Amino acid sequence: MKNEGAKISIRGIVQGVGFRPFIYRLAKSFNLYGWVKNTSSGVIVEAEGQKKDILNLVERIKTEAPPLSKIENITVEFHPSNGYTYFEIKKSLTEVEKFLPLSPDIKICPECLSELTSSSNRRYRYPFINCTNCGPRFTIIKDIPYDRNKTTMHNFKMCPLCQKEYDDPINRRYHAQPNACFECGPSVKLFESNAQKEVSSKDPIKKTISLLKKGYIIAIKGLGGFHLACIATDVKAVAELRRRKKREKSKPFAIMSNNIEKIRKYCSVNQEEESMLLSHSSPIVLLEKLSNCPISKEVAPGNKYLGVMLSYTPLHHLLLADPHILALIMTSGNFSDEPLTKDNKEATKELSDIADYFLIHNRDIHISCDDSVTRIFEKKELMIRRARGHAPCPIILNYKLPQIFAVGAELKSTFCLTKENYAFLSQHIGNLKNLETLEYFKKLLLHFKKIFKVTPNIVAADLHPNYLSTNFAKECSRDNNLPIVYIQHHHAHIGAVLAENNIDEEVFGVAFDGIGYGEDGNIWGGEFMVASLSSFKRVAHLKYFGMPGGDKATLEPWRMSLSYLYALYGDTIPREFIERFGEKETSFVLEMIKKRINCPLTSSMGRLFDAVSCLIGIREKIDYEAQAAIELEMIADPLEKNAYRFNIIEKEGLLIIEPLTMIEELINDIEKKVSTSLISSKFHNAVADLILNIANKIRGSFKINKVALSGGVFQNIYLLKRVISRLKDCGFIPIIHSKIPPNDGGVSLGQAIIASKKTME
Ligand code: ZN
Ligand code: ZN
Ligand code: FE
Repeated sequence: MKNEGAKISIRGIVQGVGFRPFIYRLAKSFNLYGWVKNTSSGVIVEAEGQKKDILNLVERIKTEAPPLSKIENITVEFHPSNGYTYFEIKKSLTEVEKFLPLSPDIKICPECLSELTSSSNRRYRYPFINCTNCGPRFTIIKDIPYDRNKTTMHNFKMCPLCQKEYDDPINRRYHAQPNACFECGPSVKLFESNAQKEVSSKDPIKKTISLLKKGYIIAIKGLGGFHLACIATDVKAVAELRRRKKREKSKPFAIMSNNIEKIRKYCSVNQEEESMLLSHSSPIVLLEKLSNCPISKEVAPGNKYLGVMLSYTPLHHLLLADPHILALIMTSGNFSDEPLTKDNKEATKELSDIADYFLIHNRDIHISCDDSVTRIFEKKELMIRRARGHAPCPIILNYKLPQIFAVGAELKSTFCLTKENYAFLSQHIGNLKNLETLEYFKKLLLHFKKIFKVTPNIVAADLHPNYLSTNFAKECSRDNNLPIVYIQHHHAHIGAVLAENNIDEEVFGVAFDGIGYGEDGNIWGGEFMVASLSSFKRVAHLKYFGMPGGDKATLEPWRMSLSYLYALYGDTIPREFIERFGEKETSFVLEMIKKRINCPLTSSMGRLFDAVSCLIGIREKIDYEAQAAIELEMIADPLEKNAYRFNIIEKEGLLIIEPLTMIEELINDIEKKVSTSLISSKFHNAVADLILNIANKIRGSFKINKVALSGGVFQNIYLLKRVISRLKDCGFIPIIHSKIPPNDGGVSLGQAIIASKKTME
C-alpha cells in the first residue's frame, strides 16, 4: 500500500512536558517517518507511513499523552508523502505574536521518588531531583520560550551526565529544563537565625529533622516560597510558632505528611479526598479530624477540619520520611495577608523573629506561589484558594474574548487577563489592602503579560471607589489610554461561576458574601439577581441594616448583632446581651446606630451569619476573616430539619427579605436554652429555604431554571448541600463552583468575562 503523509497539530499544554519525545517514541513504534517540533502555537507532527498507522498514532496521542500535558485539540490533515526516511525531533521555532499555555509546578513523580530513595541511584537523597514529568515550572520561568537559560536554573551548567540525559530523546529527562544532580545543581544549606551563621553539618536535612524533633521552628524554602515548620504534634512548638507569628490567635495552620497512611492516623480520608491529595497539583485539602486526633489542638482551634497536604517536593519528602514525624506544620512564611516570602535575603530578614533556623537553597524562585487550598464537596472539588499546581493554567472558554485586564476585588485578590478563548487567572495574591501586596500584584501582572503576550485594550474593575485595585485600574486606563469598565461586585461573582461552567445565558444568580459595593452606594452581600454575562437586574436582597463602624463591624460581629437587636427591641434590648457586649461599648455603638454616624447600610448575608454566630455566644470578635460564620457552620447539627423563617416583602417590584422575625424566633430559642447546635441548623435551613423560595418566585415571572450560586458564603458546605438538594428537588439546575473559588478569588474572572460581553455588544 502507498504511504501517506499527515500534518498533525496539537494545541494545549504541550511544551516543557515531554511531548516531543513521547511522539518520537510513538512514531518509531509505528514505523512512521517525518518529524515533530514545537511552535509558538503548539506541537506539530509530520508523519508518513500507512494511513492506519497514522490514525493509530493520533489515537494513542490522545489516550497516552504525558501526565503534565493537557490537549485542547488535535487536527489532522492528510497529504501526499514527501518521502522522509527517518523520524526526528526538529528545533523549536518561535513566532513573535503567538503564545502558549504553560505548565504549573508539579509534585515529584513516582519515578523520581523511587530514585530519590534508592541508595544505588546517583541522585539518592538529592533534594532537587526532577524530570520532564515533574518539578518546578511556573515559579522558575522568567520568560518564554521555556528554555533553561530563561529560568532561574540558568546559572547551573549541567554536568556531562545530566547533559547526556537532557539530550537523549528516549530519556525521561530529555529537555527537562531544571535537570540537575549533586554534581551540577542547586544545594541546601542550614543557617542559624540570629547569628546568620551556617550550621556545619554533613547533611543539613538530617540536621534539620533533629532540630525539628527538639521543638525548634524552622523556615524552609520550598517551591513557591518559604514555609514555617515545626512538628505538628508538639504542643509547645505549635503554641510558640503561633505566638511568634503574631498570627490571628486561632487561624488554622496547614500541615504536611509524607503518605496517606500517616494522614489516616489523624483525619478521615475518603476516596475522592485521597485522589485529590495524590493529584499532580498536590493541594492542601480540608479533611475532617478524627475524634482522637493526635495533632496539637493549637493547629486549628475550634475547627472540625485540618488543612492537610502531602509532601510535594523531594526536599519535603526527605524531611518527612522519618517514621517518628507524623506531620509538620507548613504554614506560609509571611506575616498575615502579606505576600509570600521567596528570596533568601528577604526571608532571613523578615522571618528571623519567627524562625530559629533557616533551611535554604540556591535555586531562585522567580514568581512566588502559595499552596492551593481545596476541599471535596459531594465527590467533586470545591476550590478555596487557587495557586500552586493550578496557576497559570488558563480557564478555557468556548467563545473568543478581546484582550482584557481585570483587576479583581480586594481581599483574596487575583487578576485575570484574557486572550482568544483563554482566561489567565493569576494565583491567589492576598489582601490588596497593603502596599507590599500591590507591588507583588504589579510584578505578577507584568510577568503574565510577558509570558502570555497579552496587551490589554480594556480594563475592568470593581465599582468600589476606594479599592486599591480600582485605583490601579484607573491608573492603567489613564496611562495607556484604555477604556475602563466597572463591574458590580456580585454580578462579577455570578459571571465567574457562569464562566467556569461555560454558560452564556440568563440565569437566576444568588450572590452571598461579606461585602461588595452596590450600585446604590450601599454595601451589598445578600443578593438575588436575574443575570447574564452582559447585564443583571437585582430582584431581591436582604433588608438593609446599619453596619456600625463600617469595616470594624466585620472584625467585631457583636456590632452587627446590636444593629439587629436595636431594630427589634429599640431601647429595650435584653440585658444579657448588653452585659455580654459591655455596657460602655454598647451605648457607644447604639449612638452610632441611632444617629447614623459611620453606620453604612448593608444587605450582607455574611454579616447576618456573623450576627447569628455572636447572638448565640460563639464569637463576639474574630481573629481571621469569616471566623464567626465558619464556627457557626461547624456546630450545625446535620440531622436537624426544622428552620426559622424569613419574611419576604414586595416593594416596587423588588423583594425585600426581612430577617427580624427570624432573629426573634432565634432569641426565643436562646431563652428556652435550645442547644446552639440546633439553633445553628435552624438558621442554615432558613437560608436554604429562602433561596428556594425566591427561586420559585423568579421562575414564576422569568421562566428561569438555572440557579447560579457564588460568593464566599457558598464555601459553607452545610448550607450549599441543603440549597442544592432543595433546588434539585424542585426541578432547578444549580450552577456551582468547582475549580474556581466561590470567594473573591474568582471575581477578576467574572469581571473579565462580563467586560468582554459588555464591550462586544
Ligand atoms: Zn519526575
Ligand atoms: Zn548533573
Ligand atoms: Fe465577594
